[in-house]
Amino acid sequence: MTYERPTWPAEFADRYRREGLWRGETLDGLLRTWAARYAGRTALVHGDRRFTYEELDRRADRTAAGFRRHGIEPGDRVVLQLPNVAEFAVVFFGLLRAGARPVFSLASHRANEIRHLCELSGAAGYVIPGQHRGFDHTALALRMVEELPTLRRVFTLDGEVPEGAEGTVVPLAAVDAEPLAEPVANDPSDTAFFLLSGGTTALPKLIPRTHDDYAYQTRTAAEVNGLTGDDVYLAALPVEFNFTWGCPGVLGTLQAGGTAVLAEDPTADDCFALIAAERVTFTSLVPSVAQMWLEAAEWLEPDLATLRTVQIGGARLQPELARRIEPAFGARLQQVFGMAEGLLSVTRADDAPETVWTTQGTPLSPADEIRIVDEHGNDVPPGGTGELLTRGPYTLRGYYRADEHNARAFTADGFYRSGDLARITEDGRLVIEGRIKDVVIRGGDKVSAGEVEEHLLALPNVARAAVVAAPDEYLGERVHAWIVPAGEAPKLRDVKAALSASGLADYKLPDRVEAVADFPLTGLGKVDKKVLAAAAADPSAPRPWNVAPETVASETVAS
Ligand code: AMP
Repeated sequence: MTYERPTWPAEFADRYRREGLWRGETLDGLLRTWAARYAGRTALVHGDRRFTYEELDRRADRTAAGFRRHGIEPGDRVVLQLPNVAEFAVVFFGLLRAGARPVFSLASHRANEIRHLCELSGAAGYVIPGQHRGFDHTALALRMVEELPTLRRVFTLDGEVPEGAEGTVVPLAAVDAEPLAEPVANDPSDTAFFLLSGGTTALPKLIPRTHDDYAYQTRTAAEVNGLTGDDVYLAALPVEFNFTWGCPGVLGTLQAGGTAVLAEDPTADDCFALIAAERVTFTSLVPSVAQMWLEAAEWLEPDLATLRTVQIGGARLQPELARRIEPAFGARLQQVFGMAEGLLSVTRADDAPETVWTTQGTPLSPADEIRIVDEHGNDVPPGGTGELLTRGPYTLRGYYRADEHNARAFTADGFYRSGDLARITEDGRLVIEGRIKDVVIRGGDKVSAGEVEEHLLALPNVARAAVVAAPDEYLGERVHAWIVPAGEAPKLRDVKAALSASGLADYKLPDRVEAVADFPLTGLGKVDKKVLAAAAADPSAPRPWNVAPETVASETVAS
């Protein structure tokens, strides 16, 4: 049966409600409550535009009515692809109030991902920036409308409507009407919006997040960080990341009555200026951005006096980098292990420095359940390393429309198999040791090895392909593609151009391509990615399995 609606077994749902974790509130209803409570305070800042809580609430109502007027119906899915602009929040709440469900797409997604997301969600609408950073999203959107029968409308931020596309492409500014006479009553236990999985398999899966579970996550993350109305959050990373949107992120800040400031870029120059100008108190970064900020701080000497907390997560934070955060930024470090699927584990304000530098803390909720298991699914002895399994009040019980995958991704009793290797320290802290899943974490971006391999194999001069993570000083990991060429080995730039033309997003393109005559195999005859990963980490090491090196020039080309 197709998994259409998130369901927790009744005994769990009852318990989460009884314990007050799920409060039967909707996210769009919460905006109404916040607007009544925080009224004229500043909710959002983007460039020189400032929105009060009341204004955000009013705009959400008008946008909801505008979406309905332009053909979006309750229950419709709408792919939301906007950069860090105030409209992201307005559209998010507007869609919820129209009864529709946003599907968060990354601004960097291209044809490949967008087609997949629209198809899988059966999207009726697609919200785009228009022309953005040299990419023509409008042209792509029109192609998608032609290809996909369910996709009816495109809403564009830049307001440019190509000739002949009137009626299909609607400027976002025109998505505005007198508020609906009868507002939609969303069900708190139903999907509010969809986040994307980091992609353990070829393409992202849709993660249904309910009003109840996301309201609980953001509220709890805000409480753990002691957020108040005096806090100013800088959204330095893309807002469509779960980390930036709700850990506590933008939503957690609004729930506390604070101000969320949207940075269009995570660069140190822009963000340091915003921190000083807007008196930012906390922000969240991936390790690669934190490292850029650290380096820039040495010569920019920024004014970061108001900064209280810097959250770092999304990828492994080296303890050496962790130690430098507090002295350099004058702010507390909080390590965050998180996943769009749910579970968050964070270090706490009263943790000893060593704990903050070397662990990913403890789960956000006392109701989060964690198991560390071996390859047979048995619990490992205390302190041992194994796969992290989890279930809880804000961790999904199944991906949307993915029955086959769900059967593998969850245990029979509902634990989600994270694909991460972890252990629990003697004092109960989670430490992420590595991962089983075949994903390269480049910066904070998750790149599925399988997806890049598929694209490589579609090239005429690639016979076999295996993609692994190689360590990288700045990105943490980079994408290393091993290929067995068919004929002459292709050049890196040609491979990149071909993959890009086949619709693969830029951040997934291989950073290196290395051609060999053969791949090493495991005892079971499968490609031995462990050996390939070790070799990718050390370009000067011998490649002993490369049995006929004279037949293929081993070509390693740095980007
Ligand atoms: P996403 O669903 O895109 O948020 O990615 C979640 C994945 O990112 C996790 O399953 C981990 O593999 C990785 N991840 C997130 N936070 C951390 C962290 N603090 N340390 C190591 N890996 C992390």
